[in-house]
Amino acid sequence: MRHYYIAGNWKMHKSRSEAAELARALVSQLKDGKHKYLAAPSFTSLETVGAILKGTNILLGAQNMAAEEQGAHTGEVSVLQLKDLGVQAVILGHSERRHTYKEDDALINRKVRLALQHGLEVILCVGELLEEREAGKAEAVCEAQTVKGLEGVAKESLARITIAYEPVWAIGTGKTATPEDADAIHAHIRRVVGRLYGADAAAALIIQYGGSVKPDNAAQLMAKENIDGALVGGAALKADTFVPIAKFG
Ligand code: PEP
Repeated sequence: MRHYYIAGNWKMHKSRSEAAELARALVSQLKDGKHKYLAAPSFTSLETVGAILKGTNILLGAQNMAAEEQGAHTGEVSVLQLKDLGVQAVILGHSERRHTYKEDDALINRKVRLALQHGLEVILCVGELLEEREAGKAEAVCEAQTVKGLEGVAKESLARITIAYEPVWAIGTGKTATPEDADAIHAHIRRVVGRLYGADAAAALIIQYGGSVKPDNAAQLMAKENIDGALVGGAALKADTFVPIAKFG
């Protein structure tokens, strides 16, 4: 019932021409890919990359958006502007937004609801810090971020939400959660969503794992019952490393 979904977060990397080169390589190498794919370049490359991805099996994603539709918000990018560029999905609540840019659950929830209201798909990121894991709070942190992130989201909209479990200590560090540890948190998130929306919605929910996913660990992670894909950072910057993840197994 669930399908695998592999997304690449290019973060603040690449000029337009470099982004175009990667997008072209992904289009050609993933055209026979069996899963759902997304590429999320920087805002500055969305138009360029969007033109290359149009009509392919790779969705165009943004890495963030403002919580307001428009107005006096210097430096922000709105959902209307993203839609105008053909963006189909947006990553919200990434740990770099939460921890470096101090976005809280209430702000992230406003963004989630606004994105859904405008027809975008959402990848909602949750994940604990190392000290929270060491204090035995990983499940509680992910549960709170999930519940608050989804507040006010109707059951009919849940099909457009993907949750990405990204333990903060595993992002960009080379440390990956073991498949068993990741699966345990994914199972917990699924239980939480079941409590909120019912067993059918929980069973259909796509939950990606993110945190130093590489070609050599993707298949073991994806083999776990509750891991339905990956949100990939560093390894998404080259077709040579993203494509084997996207075609794992
Ligand atoms: C991310 O930024 O979402 C991420 C998972 O990064 P990395 O794959 O580099 O750990």
